[in-house]
Amino acid sequence: MSSHRTTTAANTADIQATDASHHMHPFTNTGALNRKGARVIERAEGVYLWDSEGNKIIDGMAGLWCVNMGYGRKELVEAAHQQMQTLPYYNTFFQTTHTPAAELAKEIASVTPGDLNHIFFANSGSEAVDTVIRLVRQYWNIKGKPYKNILIGRENAYHGSTIGGTSLGGMSGMHKQGGPLVPNIERIRQPYWYGEAGDMSEEEFGLACAQALEEKILAVGPDNVAAFVGEPIQGAGGVIVPPANYWQEIKRICDKYDVLIAADEVICGFGRTGNWFGCQSFDFQPDLMSMAKGLSSGYLPIAAVAVGDRIANAFIEHDEDFNHGFTYSGHPVAAAVAIENIRLMKEENIVDYVANDIGPYFQTKLREMLSEHPLVGHIEGMGLVAGIALVKDKATKTLFPDDLDIGLICRDHCFENGLIMRAVGSRMVLSPPLVISHAEVDEVLEKARHCFDLTLASVDKG
Ligand code: PMP
Repeated sequence: MSSHRTTTAANTADIQATDASHHMHPFTNTGALNRKGARVIERAEGVYLWDSEGNKIIDGMAGLWCVNMGYGRKELVEAAHQQMQTLPYYNTFFQTTHTPAAELAKEIASVTPGDLNHIFFANSGSEAVDTVIRLVRQYWNIKGKPYKNILIGRENAYHGSTIGGTSLGGMSGMHKQGGPLVPNIERIRQPYWYGEAGDMSEEEFGLACAQALEEKILAVGPDNVAAFVGEPIQGAGGVIVPPANYWQEIKRICDKYDVLIAADEVICGFGRTGNWFGCQSFDFQPDLMSMAKGLSSGYLPIAAVAVGDRIANAFIEHDEDFNHGFTYSGHPVAAAVAIENIRLMKEENIVDYVANDIGPYFQTKLREMLSEHPLVGHIEGMGLVAGIALVKDKATKTLFPDDLDIGLICRDHCFENGLIMRAVGSRMVLSPPLVISHAEVDEVLEKARHCFDLTLASVDKG
């Protein structure tokens, strides 16, 4: 017998009190949250969430960029249920495998570009990124170049919260805590044209940002650089879409110095940009890539690293253990859900829907409805992901002072008005479920515009 407990308004306060007493939230000022009380999210269907007070909220963020196929998909629930009954757990460490892990590896290889034919499983994007770090360093070690162990990432990149992901990422707030960071990681500037290009055209700026990679490689010595790691579009950094020529140039430079490219596809992967993977939207082939989130539409934690033949074959031919793995690598239930998720994506032609229908609709309508708004300095995006720069003065691109925290003001208005939109500094971010309909896109954007009006009014008042 299963008991189904739902929250009522009457016990919202109890849950908040329990939460405040015992739950430490990620990326949160726990003291401040405990004083205020967390909003209790209770159930979800399609692109909507309901909180414990009965408020219906449209989820413009697909959870944390992950619920790509929307909430309430019975097929995913059934896949988990079936697998739980057959084999709820077994490991893949000691010369065993199981059907879900093997089948999922094949499915992932079928949708990844080029020769990314070998799949290593993890449970989170952070673990996948840590796996990338250890894989590329060990690859060069196998190749007789143990000194080729420096990884290059970028300022304002996000690669997760483990010590490896934190070190490779470029989030200054994270670097201030929990260090020292992992050594032999370098960073270069981000390709944020609107915010950092000055008078340069997009093309000039794309080249300049890629040039920064060549300069860094030369500064530390090409023989010492293992890999460059980047998100095709920076997500948690505020949805920064690089200039169109950027990745081509990065690829050219990496090839020139025999530096591996790892695409961190944790957000861009699984249809978000209108291709299966973000690297395809920028037309470059990585040597390996990390993925998570959309792999299972967030229904269960699962992540993977897709590894190209060159690297995988080096490990295979080396004939020695790779001393790395997680208890839940390739967890059968999570894998079964991911297989079903990919099957659904294919059956419903969801990548095509993002590329040719809802993506263009969203991007066009977003600009129609918001680009003239007095708060909006710039809109960038691709497929079903977008970042909107809020500014005090459009003409001069002047930002609001930091202590005003315009993004959080706007986010709070959204939350109060039934829309989830995320703030990254002064940038507002959207990344809705890929199954969102035209009418639901209209609802997201109408609410967003209303909340931008409220934000403007609240800052006008002082
Ligand atoms: N890489 C990227 C590009 C991400 O966006 C994220 C999470 N937002 C991660 C890695 C870390 O993933 P997780 O939170 O699952 O560890």
